[in-house]
Order: sequence, then structure tokens, then C-alpha cells
Amino acid sequence: MGKDSNHPFSGEKVFFATKHSKETVLKPLLSRIGLVCVRADVDTDQFGTFSGEVDRVGTVRETLRLKTSAAVEINPEGRFFLASEGSFGPHPLIGLAQSDHEALLFVDKKLEIEIYVEEVSTETNHAEIEFGPGDNLHAFLKQVGFPEHGLIVKPKGNASVVFKNLQTTDAVRNAINDSFHASSKEKVILSTDMRASYNPTRMKIIEKAGAKLVEAIISLCPDCHIPGFAISKGIRGLPCEKCGEPTRITKEVIWSCVKCSYTEQKERPDGLRTVPASDCEFCNP
Ligand SMILES: [Zn+2]
Ligand SMILES: [Zn+2]
Repeated sequence: MGKDSNHPFSGEKVFFATKHSKETVLKPLLSRIGLVCVRADVDTDQFGTFSGEVDRVGTVRETLRLKTSAAVEINPEGRFFLASEGSFGPHPLIGLAQSDHEALLFVDKKLEIEIYVEEVSTETNHAEIEFGPGDNLHAFLKQVGFPEHGLIVKPKGNASVVFKNLQTTDAVRNAINDSFHASSKEKVILSTDMRASYNPTRMKIIEKAGAKLVEAIISLCPDCHIPGFAISKGIRGLPCEKCGEPTRITKEVIWSCVKCSYTEQKERPDGLRTVPASDCEFCNP
């Protein structure tokens, strides 16, 4: 993607509601279209934390809207606002594998449009285990990529104690010892810190979502020329290479404008025409 300073949004500021320095990866991406990304100091933890002190409520998109609205309150003169939200758990399609779901919401108050993009990846260190006294730490620390990736330690059965920002194995060990003392169940819970600034693997997926966002902002509606013309949904039915029956795999996609009602039905962007028989529910039930 080259520099596109002719974009209608070029030279404008985007207020990014973030607390965990995610702007470091989004700033250079947005600058390709001349958008200047600045941090809007919103305490995004009030809308939910990964370590569980504050529960998340509502859908991802609702949470994103709460974050951008908070940024609007702080910068009422602003036009563009951005928020990010990540969630982790079993992959929606692959099931057992852990996945990172990253979503971004870009709001233009003047045009009254929202551009929403998401990226789902199995590239994540998201994990949580329970430790008893004497259990060996090393395999887990290696698996989650500590210390490049952060860890959270807390006693089981005592929600008032949480250890974060642990930089060394000794610090983890001390946190574990303190947690054993604070636990009513003689167990300690170790989980990966999913805050972006403590999780370079997550930061990479946010960057991928950011690249999708920039692509969507560059893409103008063929009818009203407003940015954000992008794929809004897939239509199932890609045929099996062997039996030719339609499968659950996406056959065509709908491109939609975020402002007017213009849509286009197109082929899959990757050009795939058939599904391998191994993914066909008739050939391989
Ligand atoms: Zn088949
Ligand atoms: Zn349009």
C-alpha cells in the first residue's frame, strides 16, 4: 500500500481511546492516508479488564461505541475517533484452538459513519492454569513467552489480590508465594497478560486489524464516494471440488457502503472457486 495523501481525510486528527499504547502500531498505518493518530486519554479499563477486576458488558461493538463516546466527551471539537477491543477464547470456527479476536471502530462525527473491522487469529499465547505448591513453573513460562509477554498471578478464591507487571522469574515466584498465603484454596492462578503493551503477539494482530481498517478507509463507495466501502458479509455455498455440492464455505461476498444503501455482490477476494473434499460435509461427513 503506498502513501495516499489525496485521501479526503488527509491531514485530519483521529482521537484513539486507549490506555495501553496501542497507538504505536496504528499510528504509522493511519499516517499512510494522512491521518494523524493521537491518544485520547480515556480510562478504557472502566469498560472491562482482562484480569477480571471489571467485567465486560454488552457486545464488542457496544463496548467500542462506549469507548469512542468517552473520547468524544474529552475532545468535543474532534471529528474522527477510534477504539479497539480484543477478546480471547476458543476459535469460532476451529473450536478448540485459542484465538484472539481484535476489533476496531472508526467513527466520523461529520459524515456520521462508523467503519468496523475485525481480525481473528489463532496466533495467541492466551492461557490460564492453576498451580499448587511445588508445581514446576518453567514449561508454562516458556509456553506463554515470558518475560517478553506479561503474566498475571492471583490467589484462587481471593478476588482482592492481583499481581501484574512482573518482569522476572523471581518476581513471578514471589507473587506466587504471596498468592499461596492469600489463597483460601492453596492454589494460585497464572494467566497471560492480554493488555497489548504487555503482549507483543496480540500487538501484531491489532496491527493486522489496523491494516484492514486503513484499506476500508481508502475504499470509497462507487455511488456516494464516502470512505468505508468494504465486505459486510459472506454468502455460503462454495462447491466441493469432488461432488460439486454447495458447502458452508463462503462462495460470494457482499460489499456495502457505510452511508448509503449501495451494495455489490462479488467473488471471494482470494479467488477460491472450490472447497477440498476434506472440508465437504457430503464427501467427508
Ligand atoms: Zn463433496
Ligand atoms: Zn455509498
